[in-house]
Amino acid sequence: MLDASLRYFHQAAEVLGLSTNIREILVTPRRVMKVEIVTEGDDGLLSRHIGFRVQHNNARGPYKGGLRYHPAMDEDHASALASLMTWKTAIVNVPFGGAKGGISCDPSKMSVVDLDRVTRTFVERTKEIMGPTLDIPAPDVNTNPEVMAWIMDEYSKYEGFSPAVVTGKPVHLFGSVGRDEATGRGVMYALREALRDQGKKLSDITVAIQGFGNVGSHAARLIAAEGGTIVAVADHLGGVSKPDGLDVPALFAWAGQHHTVDAFPGGDAFDCSEIITWPADVLIPAALEDAITADHAPDVQASIIIEAANGPTTPEANDLLHKRGVTIVPDILANAGGVTVSYFEWAQNIQQFRWEIDRVNAELEKVMIRAYQDVRDVAAKRKIDLRTASFVLGIQRVGIASLSRQHARVPIDLS
Ligand code: NAD
Repeated sequence: MLDASLRYFHQAAEVLGLSTNIREILVTPRRVMKVEIVTEGDDGLLSRHIGFRVQHNNARGPYKGGLRYHPAMDEDHASALASLMTWKTAIVNVPFGGAKGGISCDPSKMSVVDLDRVTRTFVERTKEIMGPTLDIPAPDVNTNPEVMAWIMDEYSKYEGFSPAVVTGKPVHLFGSVGRDEATGRGVMYALREALRDQGKKLSDITVAIQGFGNVGSHAARLIAAEGGTIVAVADHLGGVSKPDGLDVPALFAWAGQHHTVDAFPGGDAFDCSEIITWPADVLIPAALEDAITADHAPDVQASIIIEAANGPTTPEANDLLHKRGVTIVPDILANAGGVTVSYFEWAQNIQQFRWEIDRVNAELEKVMIRAYQDVRDVAAKRKIDLRTASFVLGIQRVGIASLSRQHARVPIDLS
């Protein structure tokens, strides 16, 4: 992830003709905080974890990014993900910067009470750099609305009532309606716009989806509702296909009950490893990093890939697919619906006001269409692919803000 994000950054910096000096300024995180978290476990023994927060850039607004609880969480990983948040918030043009953080721990081996203690200690250690106008965390791998509620509660003990310190909260605790489906909804809009460029509609295409968790399931549901034909879906336990289209509402209900699409009676079963090369017009990877590799690239049948997951295509596969003429709508554009509705949640919290679902969805649609068109226009103007264009647009917006705030007299052309 670190290598890939740096590589794409430098490709875009090359297009923009940025000097080494400016590249260094834009790529270096502004602050990295590492804290020790010592808590007493249920067994009375002390346990120790390391927590991180990487604040990459806040030129366009407060730092924004998820908190990940995972044994492999470290500073390098957090730094790469933090920089991607900076470019992503700039592409959708919401007033945030980029950050990422987390705790190196294994939540599957911890009780809820343990997790609560660890989270609250993390807040206690990092509260000076967090806040509604400073840095606003959100859920990421192994964190959820419940954890966000603990963060809001703990931070508010020190600073007073502060719902806007964190997003992705439960709807009954100052969360936003529409946040749970926002990333999948944004994926649907990104696909719809990419198809429009090719003179097609959602009702013209077949779709294969890897992953049927939060993002994949809502994307499937919304694409099907707009007339798209979902021909295959796979999760980590298995896949299910139907050439004339799966009954997605029934599959959604099945997965809600069984926590997998495996054994869904409304289609034919297949091995989940086959999903990447499934015969469909569109492939939506919505599961893992590095899901599409150079080995898959020659056999991918889709002509459009919408990257719902973060980093699902390896750089080698990206190059091979690009040469084959496959259109890739990159993660930092395609999955930005989540952070966009996080921005709406923050705005509602600041205003002490609640939006109706229709307003959330209509505003999200406007943001995603604008972002897609902005990226598409950069790609057309500079004759580059959508991924490089996304980085170019993000770097331009962040670069102009950073340099005009910090180094107003440096003559630099980022146009
Ligand atoms: P999730 O945990 O809800 O779902 C993940 C899905 O991937 C599950 O269905 C799981 O079975 C499946 N999966 C795991 N390994 C697989 C394999 N080997 N083959 C097939 N399927 C496999 O996660 P999510 O929230 O839906 O996130 C999915 C991706 O989208 C992640 O990369 C995440 O970083 C990214 N993302 C999520 C959001 C969000 O708002 N949730 C926002 C931006 C990006």
